[in-house]
Amino acid sequence: MSFQSLGLSDALLKAISKKGYETPSPIQQKAIPPVLEGRDVLASAQTGTGKTAGFTLPLLHLLSENQSPKFRVIRALILTPTRELAAQVHESVKDYSKFLDVKSTVIFGGVNQNPQVNRLRQGVDVLIATPGRLLDLQNQKLLSLKHVEVFVLDEADRMLDMGFLRDIERVMKLIPAKRQNLMFSATFSKDIRKLANGILNNPVQVEATPENSTVDAISQKVYRVAKNKKTGLIIKLISEGHWEQVLVFTRTKHGANKLTKKMISAGISAAAIHGNKSQGARTKALAGFKNGSIRVLVATDIAARGLDIPLLPHVVNFELPNISEDYVHRIGRTGRAGANGQAVSLVSADETSYLKNIEKLIGLNIEVEIVEGFEPDPNASTEPIKPGQNRQRRHSKKTNSSGRRKNNKNKRNYSKQRNDKRH
Ligand code: AMP
Repeated sequence: MSFQSLGLSDALLKAISKKGYETPSPIQQKAIPPVLEGRDVLASAQTGTGKTAGFTLPLLHLLSENQSPKFRVIRALILTPTRELAAQVHESVKDYSKFLDVKSTVIFGGVNQNPQVNRLRQGVDVLIATPGRLLDLQNQKLLSLKHVEVFVLDEADRMLDMGFLRDIERVMKLIPAKRQNLMFSATFSKDIRKLANGILNNPVQVEATPENSTVDAISQKVYRVAKNKKTGLIIKLISEGHWEQVLVFTRTKHGANKLTKKMISAGISAAAIHGNKSQGARTKALAGFKNGSIRVLVATDIAARGLDIPLLPHVVNFELPNISEDYVHRIGRTGRAGANGQAVSLVSADETSYLKNIEKLIGLNIEVEIVEGFEPDPNASTEPIKPGQNRQRRHSKKTNSSGRRKNNKNKRNYSKQRNDKRH
């Protein structure tokens, strides 16, 4: 299938070929035709599937076919959970509308509103926004959503995770009842279905599994290590393995900052990306990471959501997430576009139960390695540490260090579980 056969305008085809895309991705093949027909669409797709172009291309096609009256009004509203995702979606909209008479802008919190307001005053057709700043500017009567024809809810599951349900409901009251709705979500929980029922009108359902969603394609390894030796070990692995472009996950913002400082002291260029960083600092860190001037990006789960970093060779879990599904999300960032990825987890005794839950979810016993000089502490407790608890407790339990694969039954259950979520 080609982009031409999807019926997109020449101006869009020109922009697509400028981006170097040759064939539409599965989600694009499935989502573009119903959007062009004016249908509501409920799509199961996550970052990495090409979902942004899946809704942006047909949306731009529709807007440019029916040009607005004399002055520009907001005719398409794209709501995203995070500022980073909003900025990335805006970049895509700008790229794809290069040869169209369509103007777009992005608004999000954490930065001065005046430049955003000035751009809105000049007139835009497509607005990409995070909920808080959108409602804020609307309350100040600095924008109107009365002319919205197409409403896109991107990463709806993240929206709910981040507590935006009320804000979404408020936004729905500000846009016309008659409109086209597109909703994207990586998972389909009961809450998501409920939200979809309230927003969408007789939607076409489409789904795409991202190339990177198969855990099998990613080489995974666990390093058992004493908690206080993790920093030394990660620095050794990165330097001696000559790893470039490493995404490191920490559980806390403080942990991200601390690790970043230690990396920099060890001569490894690094930057942290988390909720307490200013928007400018986050954008700079991400740009540096993408262009190779920053070798290590240290992120918390929330900050990393929606980041579009293609072809990431290494993901390191400096700490395991306590929610097993987050592990799958994290390691899914390696091996994009068919390339091989490597996911490494540094696991101390108190993370043993997290590791067990993760292995149960993915149906694999992850290969374990111990590096000389960075051995696990045999006296450390395997009890998970709760905030505020004393870290130096005793009573050890023997840990399982087998690299053997468990039976396939679990594995099937895992795919089933994920499929269940998608439907
Ligand atoms: P997304 O899932 O929208 O975040 O897109 C993931 C990445 O795939 C982005 O870097 C896009 O530029 C890229 N991309 C989107 N569509 C295509 C396509 N049809 N062919 C190749 N790359 C694409």
